[in-house]
Amino acid sequence: MRDGSERREERAPAERRLLSSRLPGFHARTLAERRAWLAEAFGLDEAELGAILDEGGLSIQQADKTIENVLGRFALPFAAVVNLRVDGRETLAPMVVEEPSVVAAASNAARIARAGGGFSTQTDEPLTIAQILLQGVADPERAAEAVQAERQELLAEADRAVPGLVARGGGARDVETRDLGSGLFAVHVLVDCRDAMGANLANTVAESLGDRVAALTGGRAVLRILSNLADRRLVRVHVRIPPDALAAEAQTGAVVRDGIVLASRFAELDPYRAATHNKGIMNGVDAVVVATGNDWRAVEAGAHAYAARRGRYEPLCTWSAGPDGTLVGRLEMPLAVGTVGGAQRAHPMARLALRLAGVQSARELASLIASVGMASNLAALRALVTDGIQRGHMALHARQVALAAGAQGDEVERVARRIAAAGEVCLERAHSELEALRRERTTAGH
Ligand code: NAD
Repeated sequence: MRDGSERREERAPAERRLLSSRLPGFHARTLAERRAWLAEAFGLDEAELGAILDEGGLSIQQADKTIENVLGRFALPFAAVVNLRVDGRETLAPMVVEEPSVVAAASNAARIARAGGGFSTQTDEPLTIAQILLQGVADPERAAEAVQAERQELLAEADRAVPGLVARGGGARDVETRDLGSGLFAVHVLVDCRDAMGANLANTVAESLGDRVAALTGGRAVLRILSNLADRRLVRVHVRIPPDALAAEAQTGAVVRDGIVLASRFAELDPYRAATHNKGIMNGVDAVVVATGNDWRAVEAGAHAYAARRGRYEPLCTWSAGPDGTLVGRLEMPLAVGTVGGAQRAHPMARLALRLAGVQSARELASLIASVGMASNLAALRALVTDGIQRGHMALHARQVALAAGAQGDEVERVARRIAAAGEVCLERAHSELEALRRERTTAGH
């Protein structure tokens, strides 16, 4: 793509970063053209890049070493969200997802958000909670005092359990206690995991302190593991969008803005709506979490537990109208993700994904992921209050249906277009259109 929108800095290949992620027409390019652009923009060897992308990054031998009872591999598409600006930084977001329209929707909303300068984020320190859950704590008040009296020693002992992390500037930061009633008691050790997701690190800390904490509290350590409610590791995203940027075919920007604000209000009032609202956010979040080799179950568990933290399930992202008429979006969620450790080290695609994301730390990765979550939410709400979700979705879903009907090569696009235009995106219609197309071609060939 050479249209002036893909300017890039002339730096050494290893440091090369995008100057602009605004890539009009990227979706209309062929796969080969997109790869060629990527190789050039990031200073990667095109053949090597192609080999990794074709292989999916994981050989069958590596797969066999990754989990147990392996029989094969399961491929999913790997794609890039374009148009993103996060904290003034131009970036792509790598995505792995099976659902059509997730990538297109996030890219479209990222383009809209640029009108207000893009997404601004703020992240907490990367603190993971190591939990020691105890039974038989007869005097919770005294237990809490005893733990706090030993705070420094406990932190030092925790640090001794994770020397590699301490050498990298991380380590245990604080100790907290919670009385759960009926002799059940929790001790939390907050561990700064730097650029790691931190589950194994926190588990190591929890296990190393179990006996000592049990002795201090007079209880028995029953469970020693991290908490996935990562509420000390929050990321916040903020965006302001001028209404004009929201305008749709038949609606002014102000009307679309008001529709999005109302949709947000429904999510605040109704858990049935909030669950779907948050699913839209997780469309973007999970896809980047998977692409970067992170633990999406942990992220999902944390997100939904946080959404229910006030005793009712609530939206993770809300929208309001600012005094100047702009649409204001605010997202807050926990994101325990890493750029080191876990699968990242072993999986070449995860490493490639992190390179495309251009992130230098786990916090920067969390900022990017949460911004993509907000973009996905914005896209879904805008579609819902304008054309409805089905128009855009079905046009893209039609390709999958065409594939399922047996279309090959250019038949896929042609059949997809026909069934979408007919408003019948279903297998039966795809079969009949495919047959019709093949008949037409045979006739034309004679
Ligand atoms: P990990 O065990 O690989 O630990 C991270 C390692 O990276 C440490 O050895 C650390 O010293 C090293 N490191 C190098 N550079 C670092 C840097 N800049 N910052 C921080 N550490 C650095 O990984 P982890 O993040 O502790 O655990 C993640 C894994 O644990 C994931 O695979 C996850 O699926 C799994 N897990 C999750 C749960 C859960 O969420 N409930 C439970 C158990 C295991």
